Amino acid sequence: MLLALPSCRQTDRFRLPRECRVVTPAASTVLPFSSGGQRLAVVTGGAGFLGSHLCERLVADDWRVIALDNLSTGCATNLDRLRASPRFEFVRHDVTQPLPGTIGGAHRLFNLACPASPHKYQRIPVQTTLSSVVGIWQLLALAEQTGARVLQASSSEVYGDPLEHPQAETYRGHVNPIGPRACYDEGKRCAETLCFAYHLERSVAIRIARIFNTYGPRLSSDDGRVVSNFIMQALRGEPLTVYGDGRQTRTFCYVDDTIDALYRLMNAEIEGPLNIGSPIEYTVVELAEIVLRLTASRSRIEYRALPADDPQRRCPDIARTRRHLDWQPKVNLEDGLRETIGYMRTQVAAA
Ligand code: UDP
Repeated sequence: MLLALPSCRQTDRFRLPRECRVVTPAASTVLPFSSGGQRLAVVTGGAGFLGSHLCERLVADDWRVIALDNLSTGCATNLDRLRASPRFEFVRHDVTQPLPGTIGGAHRLFNLACPASPHKYQRIPVQTTLSSVVGIWQLLALAEQTGARVLQASSSEVYGDPLEHPQAETYRGHVNPIGPRACYDEGKRCAETLCFAYHLERSVAIRIARIFNTYGPRLSSDDGRVVSNFIMQALRGEPLTVYGDGRQTRTFCYVDDTIDALYRLMNAEIEGPLNIGSPIEYTVVELAEIVLRLTASRSRIEYRALPADDPQRRCPDIARTRRHLDWQPKVNLEDGLRETIGYMRTQVAAA
């Protein structure tokens, strides 16, 4: 059964088997969570970098979890650690299509489905916009029917190339609606709008996490983002590609900290958006130098053209998050990078 949304063909449902092949299960095996008293959470984008870590955290905390992912940028191997868990199920599904009926009994809906790497999402701008907007719309419509709580994984990109610094949740942003990043930025902004519309008009319980740059193991080695690019380039002895003059800034939050914040936010009583990220700012060149040192690489830095609409400065004001969630990042950049480098070394060795 598909939930009552636009009539469309039913998408295939898949369970992730032990050997990590995707197969079509018998219909009876895709409904193990439709009854019983255990708490059920759904994570869209569950095979992605953040999604897979979130699924692990939820399962560890005794939730039954259904992960939905179309595997366009997520990867089934990210779910390897969950394959053996009877509390976990993977459904291959595109959130722009009507949702599978198996998730109707969920208490918590985490919406993480959206390509997140500029390098990747700019190649599929239509799908990127729709995955944010249609994806959240469907989850909100479901929550309206069932009373589930919805968490939207929003983004620092809602601030665009910010004119205020650091960025507090009250800042309205500086976004180019037709630029190369618009599909992601405006998709995330519209998703927030829909969350508030459903909350105000239809009393749906919403949580909005504005997630700043996050890194850690399972960051895709080819996703083109700065942390993965620099580490892979350093490990391969290739030049580190710094875009522009490298003086643009970002902050980098380790994945465990980000997941902890998402988990706390879902359980907190706050409907307004919260920034989730590290407040410690680094220039891109500083990051390159740290990566070179930690990998003991002899690669050099090579300067390339700055992409259009690349934000010059980005740093969250997390005062509100500290107050509401009693949270702040714990893992410092060098420790987190060491973990990430260890993970990427295994990727290089396996290639
Ligand atoms: N960047 C870079 N070299 C790379 C990849 C990215 O200098 O190989 C820069 C990019 O121009 C941006 C920053 O690093 O200023 C962060 O880029 P990323 O794609 O990781 O994410 P963003 O924060 O821009 O979404």
